[in-house]
Order: sequence, then C-alpha cells, then structure tokens
Amino acid sequence: MNVLVLNAGSSSLKFQVVATDPERIAEDRDERLAGGIVDRIGGEAIISFAARGAAPLHTTAPIRNHRAAVEAVLRWLVGSDSGAPLGSLAEVEAVGHRVVHGGERFTRSVLIDEEVLRGIQDTIELAPLHNPHNLKGIRAAMDVLGPAVPQAAVFDTAFHHTLPDYAYLYAIPYSIYRRHRVRRYGFHGTSYRYVAYRYRKLTGTPREATRLVALHLGNGCSACAIAAGDSVDTSMGFTPLEGLVMGTRSGDLDPAILDYVAAKEGLTLHEMETMLNKQSGLLGISGLTNDMRELLAEAQEHDDRRARLAVDIFAYRARKYIGAYLAAIGGADAVVFTGGIGENAAGVRARILDGLAWMGLELDPQANAEMVGGREGPITRDGARLAAWVIPTDEELLIARDTVRLVLGLDTRY
Ligand code: ADP
Repeated sequence: MNVLVLNAGSSSLKFQVVATDPERIAEDRDERLAGGIVDRIGGEAIISFAARGAAPLHTTAPIRNHRAAVEAVLRWLVGSDSGAPLGSLAEVEAVGHRVVHGGERFTRSVLIDEEVLRGIQDTIELAPLHNPHNLKGIRAAMDVLGPAVPQAAVFDTAFHHTLPDYAYLYAIPYSIYRRHRVRRYGFHGTSYRYVAYRYRKLTGTPREATRLVALHLGNGCSACAIAAGDSVDTSMGFTPLEGLVMGTRSGDLDPAILDYVAAKEGLTLHEMETMLNKQSGLLGISGLTNDMRELLAEAQEHDDRRARLAVDIFAYRARKYIGAYLAAIGGADAVVFTGGIGENAAGVRARILDGLAWMGLELDPQANAEMVGGREGPITRDGARLAAWVIPTDEELLIARDTVRLVLGLDTRY
C-alpha cells in the first residue's frame, strides 16, 4: 500500500511516500518512493522534491496555502515524465498525518473522521503553534484526494499516555489540572516509539522486558524513560519548552525568573515566553547559533568560550536526566541516542556519557566515533553492564506503518 506521509508546519509541508504492508513491516522491506518539502508557504515557496529513479526537483513557485502545497506535491508525484514516482493519483492509497498534540483524548493513532477532526480542533488551545497547521494539512489532503482515501492521524503525545499520574502531574494546585488540563504531555513520542521498537528488533528483546533511557537530540531535545516497552516519564512537559537544553529553548528553569526578568527588562509574559522558546538554549548561551555543528566548529577552531559553555551546559543537563530516569525506572538495559545531534555528534555523546563508567556504562571510543551518518548500533564495550546505542529515528516510517495497520484494522500497539 502506498502511503503519503504529511507533516504540515506553519509555513512548510514535508512529505514522503512509503510503500508498506504487514509483510514488508515484518521483514523491514518498506520502500521509500519519494520525499521532499515545500517551504515558505504563503509566498514564493522553495520546493525540493526527490524520488528514486526520477530527476530531483529544486525550484521556487508561488504557493498560496497548504492546499496548494498538497496539490503541488501530488502533481509532481504523478507528473507526466516517465520517471514520475507514481502512475496516477489512485496509487495514493492512504495518507498518514503527523499531529503534534493529541491532548488526553488521543492515546493512539486513529483514522480520521469528523469526530476526530473535532477532537484535534479541541486541542488547539494546548498546541496553538502546531495543531492548527497539522489540521490545515489534513483538510488540504481530504479536499484534494476526496473521502475515498483513508487518512490517519499519528500524535507526538500519544506514546506518553502511559505516564503514571505522579509523573505527569505538576505540584501546583490540583484544581489547575482539573480545570485547565495543565499536566505533562510530552512530545517526540513517535520518535521514541520507533527507536524503542527498533531496539527490541535489533536486540531480540521482548516488549515487556524493554527498559531504556532514550534521548532525542535534534533542534528540539527531550529524554524519555521507557519501562516494559511503555513511556513512563519524559522531559518535555505541558509544552515542548521543559527539560533539556535545546537549539533555541531553555529547557528547565526556575519559574520565578519569568516575573523577575520581565520586570527588569520591561517585557510582557508573552515576550518572556518567546525569549525562552526562540532566543535561549544553545543560541542564547553562545550568542552565535542554535546549530550544534556550527557550535562545535566555533568551539574548536576559534576556541570560543561561550560556544564551549553552551555545549557543556547541554551535555550536563542531558547527563542529569539520564541519572534521574535510571533512578526512576530502577536501571535500564541501554541509553539510546537519536535525532540529528544524537545520531551524528559523537563528541557530544561522549561528553554526555562522561563519568558514567561507575554504573557500568563503558564507552567504546572507536565504536562511538564510527556510529554517525545514519549508522545504528552499540557504542559501549561488549559486555558493558549498561549499554549505549545510536538508533537513527524514522518518524515517517512509523506514521506510514500505523496508517497501513489502521486501514487494515490491525492493532497499532506493537
Ligand atoms: P529537527 O529537530 O529539526 O528534526 P534534527 O534532528 O535534524 O532537527 O537535528 C538538528 C541538529 O542536529 C542541529 O543542531 C545540527 O547541528 C545537528 N547535527 C546534524 N548533523 C550533525 C553533525 N554531523 N555533528 C553535529 N551536529 C549535527
């Protein structure tokens, strides 16, 4: 079955076409037929599409809205040249959408109907920066492909629905949770589900025996404690702002700072939140960039003190969370790294894991240095009591697989 996977952001639409079915899933033979992005929707958009056996397309074009972006993608997929990835629109057999927030209602992936649309609409208040755009992507695909093509929603929050109440509740008046649903939701759930599944597959570990501390380190960064295959704690909270140091987000901080700095700097609460989301983290500390690759280069080539400091604070915070989550789940079999930094920055991984040999996590420096650029495998010495792994994430693949399973009426908890 060909699944069109869509990830609609505020001004971008990313897509992949994945050919998959239960047999291919079992044998890891899913095929990626095409992928790409329409960026800067609303103006002169930047289009970048690629497919196996077809010439890649890099161009710009006026793209008014998400619907026009979906149309541009489909037009290219079934284009007239002989190398077009699909023969006709009928070959798009299902669509899987990434949806950031499922609130307390969506605890697993679902086929989209009017009621689901209303449910996603209801959670907009919780994710005003993401869910409206995800909804636009869904409506655009429904409009263009028509009601006969099934569509599924896969939520970033859903994997964390197994958090116990003592992990998801904040220690503020309980009425705030009751009245406004203020609690930890967690994000990156699709990524964590994928790497946990992949770890089980690579090591032959049964789901119920899977105990991991996973770190998704990309532009956004978070940690997740996984016990018996389920998420039992995660560092992002009510919004993606909490937890680890990120590209431009502060992660954890004393909430009293908000009022104090707002008064000192003459900022509104909204401006403070923008500062914590957009001008903090690696960017804020270094004053240079939110990009880890550039920071590492600055630290090395120019011995930039603040670039080094940004990486140090980043690594220290991540190490603290590993310790906290190992305590929370009574030890684990492995620490798993994923996301752009987790998959590629061997030096950052080494820094995060520095000094953990006392608890059995003995890094293999050579394996660590080699585990980059999409490779997957352990980076600790054979027989280490606590292993560390690098497992490149693949959220699109999981979305495609969930979509197929839903269309065929199969369970998506695997
Ligand atoms: P997103 O969260 O937007 O999907 P990614 O998962 O692609 O982002 O992660 C982006 C981060 O990964 C950036 O900070 C980037 O610098 C970092 N990164 C990518 N490749 C490398 C590398 N080779 N070395 C260090 N950092 C890298």
